[in-house]
Amino acid sequence: MRAIDVHVHLSTPEVLERDSMRAQKETYFKTSLRAMTAAEMAEMYRRLEMKAVIFVIDKEAGSGDPFIGNDYVAKVASEHPDVFIGFASVDPWKGRTAVRELERALTELGLRGLKLQPATQAFYPNDRQFYSVYEVCAKHRVPVLIHTGHTGIGAGTPGGSGIRLRYTRPIPCIDDVAADFPELTIIGAHPSWPWQEEMLAVALHKANVYMDLSGWSPKYFAPSLIQYANTLLQDKVMFGSDFPVLSPERWLKDFEGAPFKDEVRPKILLENARRVLGLP
Ligand SMILES: [Zn+2]
Repeated sequence: MRAIDVHVHLSTPEVLERDSMRAQKETYFKTSLRAMTAAEMAEMYRRLEMKAVIFVIDKEAGSGDPFIGNDYVAKVASEHPDVFIGFASVDPWKGRTAVRELERALTELGLRGLKLQPATQAFYPNDRQFYSVYEVCAKHRVPVLIHTGHTGIGAGTPGGSGIRLRYTRPIPCIDDVAADFPELTIIGAHPSWPWQEEMLAVALHKANVYMDLSGWSPKYFAPSLIQYANTLLQDKVMFGSDFPVLSPERWLKDFEGAPFKDEVRPKILLENARRVLGLP
Protein backbone atom coordinates (compact mmCIF):
# COMPACT_ATOMS: atom_id res chain seq x y z
CA MET A 1 0.00 0.00 0.00
CA ARG A 2 1.43 3.36 -1.10
CA ALA A 3 -1.07 5.78 0.36
CA ILE A 4 -4.37 6.38 2.13
CA ASP A 5 -6.71 8.91 0.54
CA VAL A 6 -8.63 10.19 3.58
CA HIS A 7 -11.20 12.27 1.68
CA VAL A 8 -13.24 10.49 -0.99
CA HIS A 9 -16.82 11.28 -1.88
CA LEU A 10 -18.56 8.13 -3.00
CA SER A 11 -19.86 9.26 -6.40
CA THR A 12 -21.87 6.39 -7.75
CA PRO A 13 -24.85 7.05 -10.05
CA GLU A 14 -27.23 6.46 -7.11
CA VAL A 15 -25.47 9.08 -5.00
CA LEU A 16 -25.12 11.69 -7.75
CA GLU A 17 -28.77 11.49 -8.76
CA ARG A 18 -29.73 12.66 -5.27
CA ASP A 19 -27.45 15.72 -5.42
CA SER A 20 -29.32 18.88 -6.45
CA MET A 21 -26.03 20.80 -6.73
CA ARG A 22 -24.41 18.44 -9.23
CA ALA A 23 -24.70 20.80 -12.25
CA GLN A 24 -23.46 23.77 -10.22
CA LYS A 25 -20.45 21.81 -8.98
CA GLU A 26 -19.59 20.73 -12.53
CA THR A 27 -19.68 24.36 -13.68
CA TYR A 28 -17.59 25.64 -10.76
CA PHE A 29 -14.99 22.89 -10.81
CA LYS A 30 -14.94 22.85 -14.63
CA THR A 31 -15.16 19.10 -14.59
CA SER A 32 -17.87 16.57 -15.21
CA LEU A 33 -18.56 14.59 -12.08
CA ARG A 34 -18.46 11.29 -13.84
CA ALA A 35 -20.41 8.70 -11.98
CA MET A 36 -18.45 5.57 -11.25
CA THR A 37 -19.87 2.40 -9.84
CA ALA A 38 -18.52 1.37 -6.47
CA ALA A 39 -16.69 -1.50 -8.17
CA GLU A 40 -15.02 0.92 -10.62
CA MET A 41 -13.96 3.21 -7.78
CA ALA A 42 -12.57 0.25 -5.85
CA GLU A 43 -10.67 -0.89 -8.93
CA MET A 44 -9.18 2.59 -9.39
CA TYR A 45 -7.85 2.61 -5.81
CA ARG A 46 -6.64 -0.96 -6.10
CA ARG A 47 -4.68 -0.04 -9.23
CA LEU A 48 -3.18 2.94 -7.40
CA GLU A 49 -2.30 0.71 -4.41
CA MET A 50 -4.20 2.98 -2.06
CA LYS A 51 -6.91 2.75 0.53
CA ALA A 52 -9.71 5.31 0.51
CA VAL A 53 -11.93 6.76 3.22
CA ILE A 54 -15.35 6.93 1.58
CA PHE A 55 -18.49 8.78 2.64
CA VAL A 56 -21.70 10.47 1.54
CA ILE A 57 -22.98 13.49 3.47
CA ASP A 58 -26.40 13.54 5.14
CA LYS A 59 -27.48 17.15 4.56
CA GLU A 60 -31.22 16.61 4.37
CA ALA A 61 -32.25 19.42 6.73
CA GLY A 62 -30.00 22.09 5.21
CA SER A 63 -30.36 21.16 1.55
CA GLY A 64 -33.52 19.12 1.12
CA ASP A 65 -31.50 16.49 -0.75
CA PRO A 66 -32.41 12.95 0.33
CA PHE A 67 -29.58 11.00 2.01
CA ILE A 68 -28.75 7.63 0.52
CA GLY A 69 -28.07 6.23 3.99
CA ASN A 70 -25.25 4.82 6.06
CA ASP A 71 -26.31 1.28 5.16
CA TYR A 72 -25.40 2.04 1.56
CA VAL A 73 -21.91 3.28 2.44
CA ALA A 74 -21.38 0.32 4.78
CA LYS A 75 -22.43 -2.12 2.07
CA VAL A 76 -19.98 -0.60 -0.45
CA ALA A 77 -17.18 -0.63 2.13
CA SER A 78 -17.87 -4.25 3.09
CA GLU A 79 -17.85 -5.34 -0.55
CA HIS A 80 -14.35 -3.89 -1.02
CA PRO A 81 -12.68 -4.20 2.39
CA ASP A 82 -9.20 -4.27 0.82
CA VAL A 83 -9.52 -0.64 -0.36
CA PHE A 84 -12.44 1.10 1.33
CA ILE A 85 -12.82 2.47 4.86
CA GLY A 86 -16.38 3.70 5.31
CA PHE A 87 -17.27 6.77 7.34
CA ALA A 88 -20.78 7.48 8.58
CA SER A 89 -22.59 10.75 8.17
CA VAL A 90 -25.47 12.13 10.19
CA ASP A 91 -27.31 15.42 9.90
CA PRO A 92 -26.80 17.07 13.31
CA TRP A 93 -30.14 18.88 12.98
CA LYS A 94 -31.89 15.51 13.33
CA GLY A 95 -31.07 15.64 17.05
CA ARG A 96 -31.57 12.40 18.94
CA THR A 97 -32.30 10.56 15.70
CA ALA A 98 -28.82 11.56 14.49
CA VAL A 99 -27.19 10.39 17.71
CA ARG A 100 -28.97 7.04 17.58
CA GLU A 101 -28.14 6.62 13.89
CA LEU A 102 -24.47 7.36 14.50
CA GLU A 103 -24.35 4.84 17.33
CA ARG A 104 -25.91 2.24 15.00
CA ALA A 105 -23.56 3.12 12.12
CA LEU A 106 -20.47 2.69 14.29
CA THR A 107 -21.57 -0.47 16.09
CA GLU A 108 -23.91 -2.45 13.82
CA LEU A 109 -22.74 -1.20 10.42
CA GLY A 110 -19.03 -1.16 11.19
CA LEU A 111 -18.38 2.34 9.88
CA ARG A 112 -15.17 3.79 11.26
CA GLY A 113 -15.52 7.54 11.51
CA LEU A 114 -17.91 10.44 10.98
CA LYS A 115 -17.96 13.02 8.19
CA LEU A 116 -19.56 16.42 8.76
CA GLN A 117 -19.91 19.29 6.28
CA PRO A 118 -21.00 22.35 8.29
CA ALA A 119 -21.53 24.54 5.20
CA THR A 120 -24.08 22.33 3.46
CA GLN A 121 -25.43 20.97 6.75
CA ALA A 122 -25.83 24.58 7.92
CA PHE A 123 -24.63 24.27 11.51
CA TYR A 124 -21.89 25.60 13.75
CA PRO A 125 -19.70 22.64 14.75
CA ASN A 126 -19.10 24.28 18.14
CA ASP A 127 -22.81 24.72 18.93
CA ARG A 128 -23.33 22.75 22.12
CA GLN A 129 -26.73 21.49 21.03
CA PHE A 130 -24.84 19.14 18.67
CA TYR A 131 -22.25 17.94 21.16
CA SER A 132 -23.83 14.53 21.71
CA VAL A 133 -22.71 13.60 18.19
CA TYR A 134 -19.08 14.08 19.27
CA GLU A 135 -19.69 12.16 22.47
CA VAL A 136 -20.61 9.12 20.38
CA CYS A 137 -17.41 9.44 18.31
CA ALA A 138 -15.30 9.88 21.44
CA LYS A 139 -16.95 6.90 23.11
CA HIS A 140 -16.17 4.65 20.15
CA ARG A 141 -12.75 6.23 19.59
CA VAL A 142 -13.37 7.07 15.95
CA PRO A 143 -12.28 10.28 14.20
CA VAL A 144 -14.56 13.00 12.94
CA LEU A 145 -13.67 14.60 9.60
CA ILE A 146 -15.04 18.15 9.43
CA HIS A 147 -15.00 20.35 6.34
CA THR A 148 -13.26 23.71 6.85
CA GLY A 149 -12.83 26.84 4.72
CA HIS A 150 -14.35 27.85 1.41
CA THR A 151 -16.57 25.35 -0.35
CA GLY A 152 -17.11 24.91 -4.07
CA ILE A 153 -20.71 23.96 -3.34
CA GLY A 154 -22.90 26.94 -4.24
CA ALA A 155 -19.85 28.94 -5.38
CA GLY A 156 -20.53 31.36 -8.21
CA THR A 157 -24.31 31.23 -7.81
CA PRO A 158 -26.46 34.10 -6.49
CA GLY A 159 -26.15 34.13 -2.72
CA GLY A 160 -23.97 31.02 -2.95
CA SER A 161 -27.32 29.17 -3.05
CA GLY A 162 -27.88 30.20 0.56
CA ILE A 163 -24.77 28.39 1.83
CA ARG A 164 -22.88 30.34 4.51
CA LEU A 165 -19.12 30.19 4.89
CA ARG A 166 -19.19 31.31 8.52
CA TYR A 167 -19.86 27.72 9.62
CA THR A 168 -16.48 26.61 8.29
CA ARG A 169 -14.03 28.86 10.12
CA PRO A 170 -11.49 26.85 12.15
CA ILE A 171 -11.41 29.34 15.04
CA PRO A 172 -13.70 29.05 16.86
CA CYS A 173 -15.59 26.19 15.16
CA ILE A 174 -12.92 23.45 15.24
CA ASP A 175 -10.84 24.87 18.08
CA ASP A 176 -13.79 24.85 20.52
CA VAL A 177 -14.74 21.25 19.78
CA ALA A 178 -11.12 20.15 20.15
CA ALA A 179 -10.85 21.95 23.51
CA ASP A 180 -14.13 20.52 24.80
CA PHE A 181 -13.35 16.96 23.59
CA PRO A 182 -9.63 16.39 24.16
CA GLU A 183 -10.16 12.65 23.70
CA LEU A 184 -11.79 13.12 20.27
CA THR A 185 -9.68 12.94 17.11
CA ILE A 186 -10.66 15.70 14.70
CA ILE A 187 -9.51 16.01 11.11
CA GLY A 188 -10.03 19.46 9.63
CA ALA A 189 -10.61 18.90 5.93
CA HIS A 190 -8.85 20.93 3.22
CA PRO A 191 -6.19 23.63 3.49
CA SER A 192 -8.99 25.81 4.93
CA TRP A 193 -8.64 28.88 2.69
CA PRO A 194 -9.14 31.78 3.52
CA TRP A 195 -8.40 30.73 7.12
CA GLN A 196 -5.49 28.43 6.47
CA GLU A 197 -3.31 30.03 9.14
CA GLU A 198 -6.07 29.48 11.71
CA MET A 199 -6.28 25.81 10.79
CA LEU A 200 -2.49 25.45 11.06
CA ALA A 201 -2.62 27.13 14.45
CA VAL A 202 -5.36 24.81 15.74
CA ALA A 203 -3.49 21.72 14.49
CA LEU A 204 -0.34 23.00 16.15
CA HIS A 205 -2.06 23.84 19.43
CA LYS A 206 -4.40 20.86 19.88
CA ALA A 207 -2.80 17.42 19.93
CA ASN A 208 -6.11 15.86 18.88
CA VAL A 209 -6.46 17.93 15.68
CA TYR A 210 -5.18 16.87 12.25
CA MET A 211 -5.60 18.25 8.73
CA ASP A 212 -6.25 16.71 5.36
CA LEU A 213 -4.84 18.40 2.27
CA SER A 214 -7.72 17.56 -0.03
CA GLY A 215 -9.56 19.65 -2.58
CA TRP A 216 -6.49 21.61 -3.67
CA SER A 217 -3.72 20.65 -5.99
CA PRO A 218 -0.41 20.71 -4.09
CA LYS A 219 0.80 22.91 -6.95
CA TYR A 220 -1.23 25.75 -5.42
CA PHE A 221 -0.44 25.19 -1.73
CA ALA A 222 0.61 28.36 0.06
CA PRO A 223 4.29 28.44 1.13
CA SER A 224 3.30 28.49 4.82
CA LEU A 225 1.30 25.27 4.43
CA ILE A 226 4.28 23.48 2.89
CA GLN A 227 6.60 24.95 5.51
CA TYR A 228 4.48 23.67 8.44
CA ALA A 229 3.87 20.31 6.75
CA ASN A 230 7.63 19.91 6.36
CA THR A 231 8.35 20.75 9.99
CA LEU A 232 6.08 21.21 13.03
CA LEU A 233 3.01 19.56 11.49
CA GLN A 234 4.72 16.69 9.68
CA ASP A 235 2.92 14.12 11.86
CA LYS A 236 -0.48 15.81 11.49
CA VAL A 237 -1.19 16.47 7.82
CA MET A 238 -2.60 13.82 5.51
CA PHE A 239 -3.19 13.21 1.86
CA GLY A 240 -6.77 13.49 0.64
CA SER A 241 -8.00 14.06 -2.88
CA ASP A 242 -11.64 15.15 -2.52
CA PHE A 243 -12.50 12.80 -5.37
CA PRO A 244 -14.37 13.25 -7.73
CA VAL A 245 -13.51 16.96 -7.75
CA LEU A 246 -9.79 16.13 -7.84
CA SER A 247 -8.47 12.73 -8.83
CA PRO A 248 -5.94 10.99 -6.60
CA GLU A 249 -3.62 10.64 -9.63
CA ARG A 250 -3.63 14.40 -10.25
CA TRP A 251 -3.05 15.19 -6.56
CA LEU A 252 -0.12 12.76 -6.39
CA LYS A 253 1.44 14.04 -9.58
CA ASP A 254 1.35 17.63 -8.32
CA PHE A 255 2.56 16.49 -4.87
CA GLU A 256 5.66 15.03 -6.49
CA GLY A 257 6.47 18.42 -7.98
CA ALA A 258 5.86 20.39 -4.77
CA PRO A 259 8.76 21.18 -2.40
CA PHE A 260 8.00 18.61 0.35
CA LYS A 261 10.90 16.96 2.12
CA ASP A 262 11.55 13.37 1.10
CA GLU A 263 11.38 12.07 4.69
CA VAL A 264 8.02 13.80 5.22
CA ARG A 265 6.31 12.48 2.08
CA PRO A 266 5.54 8.96 3.39
CA LYS A 267 4.09 10.48 6.57
CA ILE A 268 1.69 12.64 4.55
CA LEU A 269 0.75 9.89 2.12
CA LEU A 270 0.44 6.96 4.48
CA GLU A 271 1.81 6.89 8.00
CA ASN A 272 -0.18 9.71 9.60
CA ALA A 273 -3.48 8.40 8.29
CA ARG A 274 -2.61 4.86 9.32
CA ARG A 275 -2.08 6.04 12.90
CA VAL A 276 -5.16 8.29 12.99
CA LEU A 277 -7.40 5.57 11.54
CA GLY A 278 -5.87 2.89 13.76
CA LEU A 279 -4.88 0.63 10.87
CA PRO A 280 -2.24 -2.06 11.30
ZN1 LIG B 1 -15.00 17.00 0.30
